Amino acid sequence: MKTIISNIDINDIDLNEIKKHAKLIKEGNTVIFPTETVYGLGANALNENAVKKIYEAKGRPSDNPLIVHICDKEEVYNLAEDISEKAKIVMDNFWPGPITIVLNKKDIVPKTTSGGLETVAIRMPSNKIAQAIIRESGVPIAAPSANISGRPSPTKGDHVKEEMDGRVGGIILGGDCNFGLESTVLDMTEEIPMILRPGSITKEELEKLIGDINLDPSLEKKEDNKKAKAPGMKYTHYSPNADVYIVSGDEQSVIEKINNMYKENMNNNLKTGVMCINKNIHKYEGLAIGLGNSLEEVGSNLFSALIEMDKHNIDIIYSEEFPNSGVGRAIMNRLLKSAGYKVIKA
Ligand code: AMP
Ligand code: MG
Repeated sequence: MKTIISNIDINDIDLNEIKKHAKLIKEGNTVIFPTETVYGLGANALNENAVKKIYEAKGRPSDNPLIVHICDKEEVYNLAEDISEKAKIVMDNFWPGPITIVLNKKDIVPKTTSGGLETVAIRMPSNKIAQAIIRESGVPIAAPSANISGRPSPTKGDHVKEEMDGRVGGIILGGDCNFGLESTVLDMTEEIPMILRPGSITKEELEKLIGDINLDPSLEKKEDNKKAKAPGMKYTHYSPNADVYIVSGDEQSVIEKINNMYKENMNNNLKTGVMCINKNIHKYEGLAIGLGNSLEEVGSNLFSALIEMDKHNIDIIYSEEFPNSGVGRAIMNRLLKSAGYKVIKA
């Protein structure tokens, strides 16, 4: 398929370029666009045939529901019902922004979009290009991350183009995604809301506003979460070509352990890569990619680092461990999945 590709400057949005892609969406086609979390692969959320093209382009299992993106909070009332006071508080405080809420769906949302569920996940992104394409299309846009199913989510234009050119109707390249981790998914269909997927809006921040929040129990376990309530969480995820391991322990032991394994791997002709915080880059032998100086930076660089490792034909990636609270919870969730839950004790 011929893909229409446009470069759009987020600080000076060319509406004529946006309109080209909005036309594709209106015609039932797929368009990739940047959001503040990761790049999304979108289609008209209310058109079943269009939504099917998303699943095809990604090779995504059909029971893995999509997030519906809107550009106006009021649109929620057209798509969902039983919207609680707590849900309104979350929308008022965090939208536009990186949190998705799960609500009971109205009939207008096809089951293809909701992965067969009676609920629908909705988000209003803050990225101005995302808002412009939704507004110009005139419809809510269902958009999962713009990667082939199972691969790390793309956060940079180059990575999107390399993976998706030829698989979709349009691609809007609009720079790097600033959060770099997918949105927090919060189920608001029960009295006590439940985080189904951790993201950069944290449990702690939400609790300050609306009181108790549960975590999907499968998130607490450092093992395969086949029983996860967000259907997408049970699938293999964020996997680069390399085999990923998390190395846990005190900092000095982790560095020594990784350098020892590096030597062993060299003897076995295996290329090793390390993902670490910036201050440790020079302490590792071989290729070390710094993920940043703060947890926020680590979150925003994690997926692109995994993709970069593939470009270096790395066979084995070792990652340092991060604290499992605040934004760290989202980082460790993605890292553990990427590693297939393989943790080495240093
Ligand atoms: P992605 O589109 O790749 O960011 O993934 C969307 C995530 O939201 C997946 O983990 C889905 O399973 C989850 N999700 C979407 N809709 C629902 C829903 N109605 N109920 C529970 N989880 C959902
Ligand atoms: Mg995804």
